[in-house]
Amino acid sequence: MKPTFIHNLVNSHFEDPSLFVRIMREKRAFLFDIGNITKLHPGDLQKITDVFVTHTHIDHFIGFDTLLRALLRREIPLRVFGPSNIIDCVEGKLKGYMWNLIKEYPLRIEVFSVDGNSATSSCFYAENRFQRIDRGTSRFDGTLVKEPLFTIKALQLNHQVPCLAYSLEEEFHININKASLNDIGLPVGPWLSELKRAIRENRPGETELVVSDRRFFLRELREIATITRGQKISYVTDIAINNENIEKIIEFARGSDTFYCEAYFMDKDMDRALKRFHLTAKITGRIAREAGVGNLVAMHFSPKYREQDEKPEDEALREFRNQTS
Ligand SMILES: [Zn+2]
Ligand SMILES: [Zn+2]
Repeated sequence: MKPTFIHNLVNSHFEDPSLFVRIMREKRAFLFDIGNITKLHPGDLQKITDVFVTHTHIDHFIGFDTLLRALLRREIPLRVFGPSNIIDCVEGKLKGYMWNLIKEYPLRIEVFSVDGNSATSSCFYAENRFQRIDRGTSRFDGTLVKEPLFTIKALQLNHQVPCLAYSLEEEFHININKASLNDIGLPVGPWLSELKRAIRENRPGETELVVSDRRFFLRELREIATITRGQKISYVTDIAINNENIEKIIEFARGSDTFYCEAYFMDKDMDRALKRFHLTAKITGRIAREAGVGNLVAMHFSPKYREQDEKPEDEALREFRNQTS
């Protein structure tokens, strides 16, 4: 089964956190946190339509300039989501440059901030020298983006400052049965993406699709597709240790195929973790275990462990797998 979302951390686990998620067979990608992203290829930067920022500490937000520069001539808008201060932070970045020569550039940036039960949005257009235009506030119920293919949710947590966690869930997964395809004598090809889209959008059975010059009704082609559970990825970082945060994360990440979570400090440095409002690797491992995730990717390690044999990842995975030593 080919996954719909291909996901990878941009940097090593000791460097800035940023998760790049590409949608299979589409020229579209998401970024969760935007630390240093200079390792991303220009082609990958062009695919990014949505950026989800946990909070704006510099290691999670410094890459905004890299992306801005790469996208100035792009027609497709960029959406940025984040906690209550994200609009001010994007505005501050944009105010840091002169924009007298970009009137013809098409880039439009839409920013959405989450605060309690409300989401506020503002936009910044290149044609308007990125002057802030406030769009108002709407009700926030936990879901940031909902499309036929997927839903992206945000969870509000605490890191002394507000910090968001994110989950990306595929609605369901469509597998193409190659044997049935052969039976009706149809080739593999781009038309399968069209078929999948028609199924996701729940179009009527009489919808026509043309394949190799033959005309089919959607209902005739449905049997070559099998529906299974969709992929779930969650991304959580920079979280203060307290029961409320931990319980919320366990619920939020429940059943994730992959759970990306910080493991900034190790258990022996619990006092530092408490003072710096970060999780420890051991707690991360416990959260992953109790949430029943398939795969834990521990990330965002303090540089102090670089030279040490045992890494935060070892501690997190040991706890996740419930091994005693
Ligand atoms: Zn951080
Ligand atoms: Zn932080």
